[in-house]
Amino acid sequence: MASGPLTPGSTIGILGGGQLGRMLAMAAAELGLSCHIYCDEDNAPAFAVSAHQTVGAYDDEATLLTFAKSVDVATVEFENVPAATLATVAKETPVYPPPRALEVSQDRLAEKTFASDLGIAVAPYCEVTSIDELEQAVQSLGTPTLLKTRRLGYDGKGQVKISNGTNLNEAYESLNGAPALLEKFIGFDCEISVLAVRGQDGETRFYDPSENRHENQILAEARVPARIPDQIADDARAIARRLVEALNYCGVLCVEMFYCGDQASAPLIVNEIAPRVHNSGHWTLDACIISQFENHIRAVAGWPLGACARHSDAVMTNLIGDQARDWPALAAEENTGLHLYGKRQIRPGRKMGHITRLVAGSGVE
Ligand code: AMP
Repeated sequence: MASGPLTPGSTIGILGGGQLGRMLAMAAAELGLSCHIYCDEDNAPAFAVSAHQTVGAYDDEATLLTFAKSVDVATVEFENVPAATLATVAKETPVYPPPRALEVSQDRLAEKTFASDLGIAVAPYCEVTSIDELEQAVQSLGTPTLLKTRRLGYDGKGQVKISNGTNLNEAYESLNGAPALLEKFIGFDCEISVLAVRGQDGETRFYDPSENRHENQILAEARVPARIPDQIADDARAIARRLVEALNYCGVLCVEMFYCGDQASAPLIVNEIAPRVHNSGHWTLDACIISQFENHIRAVAGWPLGACARHSDAVMTNLIGDQARDWPALAAEENTGLHLYGKRQIRPGRKMGHITRLVAGSGVE
Protein backbone atom coordinates (compact mmCIF):
# COMPACT_ATOMS: atom_id res chain seq x y z
CA MET A 1 0.00 0.00 0.00
CA ALA A 2 1.16 3.54 -0.68
CA SER A 3 2.00 5.42 2.50
CA GLY A 4 0.72 8.98 2.45
CA PRO A 5 -0.10 11.03 -0.62
CA LEU A 6 2.32 10.96 -3.55
CA THR A 7 4.21 14.21 -3.76
CA PRO A 8 4.29 16.28 -6.94
CA GLY A 9 7.02 14.87 -9.18
CA SER A 10 5.96 11.29 -8.44
CA THR A 11 5.12 8.93 -11.29
CA ILE A 12 1.84 7.15 -11.93
CA GLY A 13 1.95 4.07 -14.16
CA ILE A 14 -1.03 3.53 -16.45
CA LEU A 15 -1.72 0.19 -18.13
CA GLY A 16 -3.28 1.06 -21.49
CA GLY A 17 -2.60 3.93 -23.85
CA GLY A 18 -5.96 4.93 -25.37
CA GLN A 19 -7.82 8.22 -25.04
CA LEU A 20 -8.71 7.49 -21.42
CA GLY A 21 -5.02 7.09 -20.59
CA ARG A 22 -4.32 10.28 -22.51
CA MET A 23 -6.86 12.31 -20.53
CA LEU A 24 -5.64 10.75 -17.25
CA ALA A 25 -2.07 11.72 -18.11
CA MET A 26 -3.10 15.29 -18.88
CA ALA A 27 -4.98 15.51 -15.56
CA ALA A 28 -1.94 14.14 -13.71
CA ALA A 29 0.29 16.73 -15.37
CA GLU A 30 -1.99 19.48 -14.03
CA LEU A 31 -1.15 18.26 -10.52
CA GLY A 32 2.58 18.12 -11.16
CA LEU A 33 2.55 14.32 -11.40
CA SER A 34 4.17 12.40 -14.27
CA CYS A 35 2.73 9.39 -16.06
CA HIS A 36 4.38 6.30 -17.46
CA ILE A 37 2.14 4.64 -20.04
CA TYR A 38 2.43 0.89 -20.71
CA CYS A 39 0.71 -0.20 -23.92
CA ASP A 40 1.09 -3.00 -26.44
CA GLU A 41 0.70 -0.68 -29.44
CA ASP A 42 2.96 1.92 -31.03
CA ASN A 43 1.54 5.41 -31.47
CA ALA A 44 -0.96 5.02 -28.62
CA PRO A 45 -2.93 8.27 -28.07
CA ALA A 46 -1.60 8.58 -24.49
CA PHE A 47 2.08 8.45 -25.51
CA ALA A 48 2.02 11.98 -26.94
CA VAL A 49 1.13 13.53 -23.56
CA SER A 50 3.05 11.40 -21.05
CA ALA A 51 6.59 11.71 -19.70
CA HIS A 52 7.47 8.01 -20.06
CA GLN A 53 6.27 5.29 -22.40
CA THR A 54 6.81 1.56 -22.69
CA VAL A 55 5.60 -0.51 -25.64
CA GLY A 56 5.27 -4.05 -24.33
CA ALA A 57 2.98 -7.06 -24.41
CA TYR A 58 0.67 -7.53 -21.44
CA ASP A 59 2.24 -10.94 -20.80
CA ASP A 60 5.87 -9.77 -21.00
CA GLU A 61 6.77 -10.27 -17.36
CA ALA A 62 10.27 -8.79 -17.47
CA THR A 63 9.12 -5.58 -19.20
CA LEU A 64 6.15 -5.27 -16.86
CA LEU A 65 8.43 -5.59 -13.82
CA THR A 66 10.77 -2.90 -15.14
CA PHE A 67 7.74 -0.65 -15.71
CA ALA A 68 6.34 -1.39 -12.23
CA LYS A 69 9.69 -0.57 -10.56
CA SER A 70 9.76 2.80 -12.32
CA VAL A 71 6.41 4.05 -10.95
CA ASP A 72 5.07 4.99 -7.51
CA VAL A 73 1.60 3.56 -8.09
CA ALA A 74 -0.12 1.85 -11.03
CA THR A 75 -3.62 2.10 -12.45
CA VAL A 76 -5.51 1.02 -15.56
CA GLU A 77 -7.43 2.68 -18.36
CA PHE A 78 -9.22 -0.45 -19.65
CA GLU A 79 -10.88 -3.22 -17.67
CA ASN A 80 -9.63 -6.17 -19.69
CA VAL A 81 -6.10 -6.02 -18.31
CA PRO A 82 -5.29 -9.72 -17.70
CA ALA A 83 -5.23 -10.82 -14.06
CA ALA A 84 -1.66 -12.13 -14.48
CA THR A 85 -0.50 -8.70 -15.72
CA LEU A 86 -1.93 -7.01 -12.64
CA ALA A 87 -0.39 -9.63 -10.36
CA THR A 88 3.04 -9.03 -11.92
CA VAL A 89 2.79 -5.26 -11.57
CA ALA A 90 1.49 -5.59 -8.00
CA LYS A 91 4.76 -7.35 -7.00
CA GLU A 92 6.55 -4.01 -7.32
CA THR A 93 4.00 -1.25 -6.77
CA PRO A 94 0.50 -0.65 -5.37
CA VAL A 95 -2.25 -1.16 -7.98
CA TYR A 96 -5.54 0.75 -7.89
CA PRO A 97 -8.37 -0.06 -8.44
CA PRO A 98 -8.08 -3.42 -6.67
CA PRO A 99 -7.59 -6.29 -9.15
CA ARG A 100 -10.76 -7.93 -7.78
CA ALA A 101 -12.81 -5.10 -9.35
CA LEU A 102 -11.34 -5.87 -12.77
CA GLU A 103 -11.88 -9.59 -12.30
CA VAL A 104 -15.59 -8.99 -11.59
CA SER A 105 -16.12 -6.62 -14.51
CA GLN A 106 -14.25 -8.79 -17.04
CA ASP A 107 -16.86 -11.54 -16.84
CA ARG A 108 -20.52 -10.63 -17.35
CA LEU A 109 -21.60 -13.63 -15.29
CA ALA A 110 -19.34 -12.74 -12.34
CA GLU A 111 -20.51 -9.12 -12.62
CA LYS A 112 -24.20 -10.04 -12.54
CA THR A 113 -23.72 -12.50 -9.69
CA PHE A 114 -21.72 -9.94 -7.72
CA ALA A 115 -24.38 -7.22 -8.14
CA SER A 116 -27.28 -9.61 -7.41
CA ASP A 117 -25.58 -10.84 -4.25
CA LEU A 118 -25.55 -7.22 -3.07
CA GLY A 119 -29.30 -6.99 -3.69
CA ILE A 120 -28.85 -4.89 -6.86
CA ALA A 121 -31.27 -5.57 -9.73
CA VAL A 122 -29.82 -6.88 -13.01
CA ALA A 123 -31.58 -8.10 -16.18
CA PRO A 124 -32.82 -11.70 -15.71
CA TYR A 125 -30.20 -13.99 -17.24
CA CYS A 126 -29.14 -17.61 -17.79
CA GLU A 127 -25.67 -19.00 -18.36
CA VAL A 128 -25.22 -20.55 -21.84
CA THR A 129 -22.45 -23.03 -22.63
CA SER A 130 -24.17 -25.14 -25.31
CA ILE A 131 -26.95 -24.95 -27.88
CA ASP A 132 -29.14 -27.05 -25.55
CA GLU A 133 -28.67 -24.53 -22.78
CA LEU A 134 -29.49 -21.71 -25.19
CA GLU A 135 -32.76 -23.43 -26.15
CA GLN A 136 -33.66 -23.89 -22.48
CA ALA A 137 -32.72 -20.30 -21.68
CA VAL A 138 -34.93 -18.95 -24.47
CA GLN A 139 -37.78 -21.11 -23.12
CA SER A 140 -37.35 -19.71 -19.65
CA LEU A 141 -36.67 -16.02 -20.46
CA GLY A 142 -38.87 -15.72 -23.58
CA THR A 143 -38.04 -13.19 -26.31
CA PRO A 144 -36.64 -10.71 -27.05
CA THR A 145 -33.34 -11.50 -25.37
CA LEU A 146 -29.66 -10.79 -25.97
CA LEU A 147 -27.03 -13.49 -26.21
CA LYS A 148 -23.76 -12.00 -24.95
CA THR A 149 -20.29 -13.44 -24.61
CA ARG A 150 -19.18 -13.48 -20.97
CA ARG A 151 -15.83 -11.90 -21.77
CA LEU A 152 -14.36 -9.24 -24.04
CA GLY A 153 -17.68 -7.74 -25.09
CA TYR A 154 -18.11 -3.98 -25.17
CA ASP A 155 -19.98 -1.43 -27.28
CA GLY A 156 -22.32 -4.23 -28.33
CA LYS A 157 -19.49 -6.48 -29.59
CA GLY A 158 -20.08 -10.18 -28.94
CA GLN A 159 -23.87 -9.73 -28.79
CA VAL A 160 -26.74 -11.21 -30.76
CA LYS A 161 -30.39 -10.23 -30.38
CA ILE A 162 -32.77 -13.17 -30.21
CA SER A 163 -36.34 -12.54 -31.29
CA ASN A 164 -39.24 -14.79 -32.13
CA GLY A 165 -38.07 -16.88 -35.09
CA THR A 166 -34.31 -16.25 -34.71
CA ASN A 167 -32.32 -19.31 -35.79
CA LEU A 168 -30.78 -20.34 -32.46
CA ASN A 169 -28.10 -22.55 -34.03
CA GLU A 170 -26.82 -19.64 -36.12
CA ALA A 171 -26.95 -17.28 -33.15
CA TYR A 172 -25.00 -19.71 -30.98
CA GLU A 173 -22.43 -20.46 -33.68
CA SER A 174 -21.79 -16.75 -34.26
CA LEU A 175 -20.13 -16.67 -30.82
CA ASN A 176 -17.60 -19.35 -31.90
CA GLY A 177 -18.16 -21.42 -28.77
CA ALA A 178 -17.33 -18.61 -26.35
CA PRO A 179 -18.97 -18.99 -22.91
CA ALA A 180 -22.03 -16.76 -22.94
CA LEU A 181 -25.17 -15.72 -21.18
CA LEU A 182 -28.66 -14.97 -22.36
CA GLU A 183 -30.17 -11.85 -20.95
CA LYS A 184 -33.70 -10.49 -21.08
CA PHE A 185 -34.07 -7.44 -23.34
CA ILE A 186 -35.08 -4.53 -21.13
CA GLY A 187 -37.59 -1.99 -22.43
CA PHE A 188 -36.07 0.99 -20.63
CA ASP A 189 -37.11 4.66 -20.55
CA CYS A 190 -33.49 5.73 -20.77
CA GLU A 191 -29.96 4.63 -20.00
CA ILE A 192 -28.05 6.42 -17.28
CA SER A 193 -24.66 6.06 -15.67
CA VAL A 194 -23.21 7.28 -12.43
CA LEU A 195 -19.55 7.83 -11.65
CA ALA A 196 -18.33 7.27 -8.13
CA VAL A 197 -14.86 8.17 -6.95
CA ARG A 198 -13.48 6.58 -3.79
CA GLY A 199 -10.27 7.63 -2.11
CA GLN A 200 -7.74 5.43 -0.35
CA ASP A 201 -9.34 6.43 2.97
CA GLY A 202 -12.80 5.30 1.79
CA GLU A 203 -14.26 8.77 1.22
CA THR A 204 -16.70 8.50 -1.68
CA ARG A 205 -18.10 11.20 -3.94
CA PHE A 206 -20.42 11.07 -6.93
CA TYR A 207 -20.91 12.99 -10.14
CA ASP A 208 -24.49 13.62 -11.21
CA PRO A 209 -25.91 10.73 -13.23
CA SER A 210 -25.82 11.32 -16.98
CA GLU A 211 -28.45 10.26 -19.48
CA ASN A 212 -26.80 8.29 -22.25
CA ARG A 213 -27.91 7.71 -25.81
CA HIS A 214 -26.31 4.96 -27.85
CA GLU A 215 -26.24 4.58 -31.61
CA ASN A 216 -25.33 1.15 -32.97
CA GLN A 217 -24.61 0.23 -29.33
CA ILE A 218 -21.82 2.84 -29.12
CA LEU A 219 -22.27 5.82 -26.82
CA ALA A 220 -23.29 8.80 -28.96
CA GLU A 221 -24.29 11.35 -26.33
CA ALA A 222 -24.28 11.86 -22.55
CA ARG A 223 -26.28 14.70 -21.04
CA VAL A 224 -26.57 16.15 -17.58
CA PRO A 225 -28.85 16.47 -15.83
CA ALA A 226 -30.47 13.17 -16.78
CA ARG A 227 -34.23 13.44 -17.19
CA ILE A 228 -34.99 11.21 -14.21
CA PRO A 229 -36.67 11.91 -10.84
CA ASP A 230 -34.35 13.14 -8.04
CA GLN A 231 -35.14 10.00 -6.07
CA ILE A 232 -33.86 7.83 -8.93
CA ALA A 233 -30.63 9.86 -9.07
CA ASP A 234 -30.22 9.23 -5.33
CA ASP A 235 -30.93 5.53 -5.83
CA ALA A 236 -28.29 5.39 -8.60
CA ARG A 237 -25.71 6.90 -6.24
CA ALA A 238 -26.71 4.45 -3.51
CA ILE A 239 -26.18 1.51 -5.90
CA ALA A 240 -22.74 2.82 -6.87
CA ARG A 241 -21.86 3.28 -3.17
CA ARG A 242 -22.77 -0.34 -2.39
CA LEU A 243 -20.55 -1.53 -5.25
CA VAL A 244 -17.47 0.54 -4.38
CA GLU A 245 -17.72 -0.38 -0.72
CA ALA A 246 -18.09 -4.09 -1.44
CA LEU A 247 -15.01 -3.93 -3.70
CA ASN A 248 -13.00 -1.80 -1.25
CA TYR A 249 -12.48 0.30 -4.33
CA CYS A 250 -10.05 3.13 -5.00
CA GLY A 251 -10.43 5.41 -8.04
CA VAL A 252 -13.32 6.17 -10.39
CA LEU A 253 -15.93 3.50 -11.07
CA CYS A 254 -18.77 3.85 -13.57
CA VAL A 255 -22.07 2.02 -13.21
CA GLU A 256 -24.28 1.85 -16.30
CA MET A 257 -27.97 1.30 -15.66
CA PHE A 258 -31.33 1.10 -17.40
CA TYR A 259 -34.11 3.30 -15.98
CA CYS A 260 -37.54 1.70 -16.21
CA GLY A 261 -40.03 4.13 -14.68
CA ASP A 262 -42.92 1.66 -14.79
CA GLN A 263 -41.06 -0.97 -12.73
CA ALA A 264 -41.87 0.40 -9.29
CA SER A 265 -40.06 -2.41 -7.45
CA ALA A 266 -36.79 -2.13 -9.43
CA PRO A 267 -36.73 0.97 -11.63
CA LEU A 268 -32.93 0.79 -11.97
CA ILE A 269 -31.29 -2.25 -13.53
CA VAL A 270 -27.52 -2.41 -13.59
CA ASN A 271 -26.14 -3.34 -17.02
CA GLU A 272 -22.40 -2.93 -16.58
CA ILE A 273 -19.73 -1.88 -14.11
CA ALA A 274 -16.59 -0.24 -15.50
CA PRO A 275 -13.69 -0.05 -13.02
CA ARG A 276 -12.17 3.02 -14.67
CA VAL A 277 -12.90 6.46 -15.97
CA HIS A 278 -15.67 6.27 -18.56
CA ASN A 279 -16.82 7.85 -21.81
CA SER A 280 -20.15 8.84 -20.23
CA GLY A 281 -18.19 11.04 -17.79
CA HIS A 282 -16.24 13.09 -20.33
CA TRP A 283 -18.58 16.06 -19.74
CA THR A 284 -16.90 16.46 -16.32
CA LEU A 285 -13.85 17.94 -18.11
CA ASP A 286 -15.83 21.03 -19.08
CA ALA A 287 -18.78 21.16 -16.67
CA CYS A 288 -17.03 20.49 -13.33
CA ILE A 289 -14.05 22.10 -11.63
CA ILE A 290 -12.50 18.68 -11.01
CA SER A 291 -12.99 16.16 -13.82
CA GLN A 292 -13.36 12.39 -13.49
CA PHE A 293 -9.77 12.11 -14.75
CA GLU A 294 -8.33 14.38 -12.08
CA ASN A 295 -10.38 12.72 -9.37
CA HIS A 296 -9.14 9.28 -10.45
CA ILE A 297 -5.56 10.53 -10.30
CA ARG A 298 -6.20 12.15 -6.91
CA ALA A 299 -7.66 8.88 -5.57
CA VAL A 300 -4.84 6.61 -6.74
CA ALA A 301 -2.22 9.15 -5.59
CA GLY A 302 -3.77 9.24 -2.11
CA TRP A 303 -4.73 12.90 -2.43
CA PRO A 304 -7.91 14.51 -1.08
CA LEU A 305 -10.76 14.06 -3.56
CA GLY A 306 -11.96 17.09 -5.50
CA ALA A 307 -15.46 18.52 -5.86
CA CYS A 308 -17.80 16.58 -8.15
CA ALA A 309 -20.31 19.43 -8.36
CA ARG A 310 -21.45 20.53 -11.80
CA HIS A 311 -21.34 24.23 -12.64
CA SER A 312 -23.26 23.91 -15.94
CA ASP A 313 -25.70 21.65 -17.65
CA ALA A 314 -23.94 19.92 -20.52
CA VAL A 315 -24.30 17.63 -23.50
CA MET A 316 -21.27 15.54 -24.47
CA THR A 317 -21.24 14.19 -28.03
CA ASN A 318 -18.72 11.65 -29.24
CA LEU A 319 -16.96 12.33 -32.52
CA ILE A 320 -17.02 8.92 -34.16
CA GLY A 321 -15.26 8.20 -37.45
CA ASP A 322 -15.86 10.93 -40.03
CA GLN A 323 -17.64 13.19 -37.51
CA ALA A 324 -14.17 14.29 -36.41
CA ARG A 325 -13.70 15.99 -39.79
CA ASP A 326 -16.07 18.73 -38.55
CA TRP A 327 -13.42 19.98 -36.14
CA PRO A 328 -13.06 23.47 -37.69
CA ALA A 329 -16.77 24.26 -37.23
CA LEU A 330 -16.82 22.69 -33.76
CA ALA A 331 -13.72 24.63 -32.72
CA ALA A 332 -15.52 27.84 -33.69
CA GLU A 333 -18.57 27.17 -31.48
CA GLU A 334 -19.03 29.25 -28.32
CA ASN A 335 -19.37 27.36 -25.02
CA THR A 336 -18.15 24.11 -26.55
CA GLY A 337 -15.14 22.17 -25.33
CA LEU A 338 -13.45 20.28 -28.18
CA HIS A 339 -11.25 17.30 -27.35
CA LEU A 340 -9.43 15.39 -30.09
CA TYR A 341 -7.51 12.26 -29.23
CA GLY A 342 -4.66 12.60 -31.72
CA LYS A 343 -5.50 9.35 -33.55
CA ARG A 344 -3.89 9.42 -36.95
CA GLN A 345 -6.37 7.29 -38.85
CA ILE A 346 -10.09 7.88 -39.04
CA ARG A 347 -12.01 4.60 -39.17
CA PRO A 348 -15.78 3.95 -39.07
CA GLY A 349 -16.88 3.40 -35.45
CA ARG A 350 -13.58 4.71 -34.04
CA LYS A 351 -13.83 7.24 -31.21
CA MET A 352 -11.74 10.15 -32.52
CA GLY A 353 -12.70 12.81 -29.99
CA HIS A 354 -15.66 14.42 -28.25
CA ILE A 355 -17.25 17.78 -27.66
CA THR A 356 -19.06 19.08 -24.63
CA ARG A 357 -21.61 21.82 -25.19
CA LEU A 358 -22.37 23.79 -22.06
CA VAL A 359 -26.03 24.70 -21.97
CA ALA A 360 -26.93 28.38 -21.74
CA GLY A 361 -28.96 29.37 -18.69
CA SER A 362 -27.16 26.93 -16.41
CA GLY A 363 -24.33 29.15 -15.23
CA VAL A 364 -22.91 29.73 -18.71
CA GLU A 365 -22.74 33.45 -19.62
P1 AMP B 1 -23.19 -3.63 -23.40
O1 AMP B 1 -22.20 -4.19 -24.36
O2 AMP B 1 -23.76 -4.62 -22.42
O3 AMP B 1 -22.72 -2.37 -22.75
O4 AMP B 1 -24.44 -3.15 -24.28
C1 AMP B 1 -24.32 -2.08 -25.17
C2 AMP B 1 -25.69 -1.44 -25.31
O5 AMP B 1 -26.65 -2.42 -25.78
C3 AMP B 1 -26.30 -0.92 -24.00
O6 AMP B 1 -25.82 0.36 -23.67
C4 AMP B 1 -27.78 -0.92 -24.37
O7 AMP B 1 -28.10 0.19 -25.19
C5 AMP B 1 -27.93 -2.20 -25.17
N1 AMP B 1 -28.26 -3.33 -24.27
C6 AMP B 1 -27.39 -4.15 -23.64
N2 AMP B 1 -28.04 -5.04 -22.86
C7 AMP B 1 -29.36 -4.77 -22.99
C8 AMP B 1 -30.55 -5.36 -22.44
N3 AMP B 1 -30.51 -6.41 -21.61
N4 AMP B 1 -31.74 -4.81 -22.79
C9 AMP B 1 -31.80 -3.76 -23.65
N5 AMP B 1 -30.72 -3.18 -24.21
C10 AMP B 1 -29.51 -3.67 -23.90
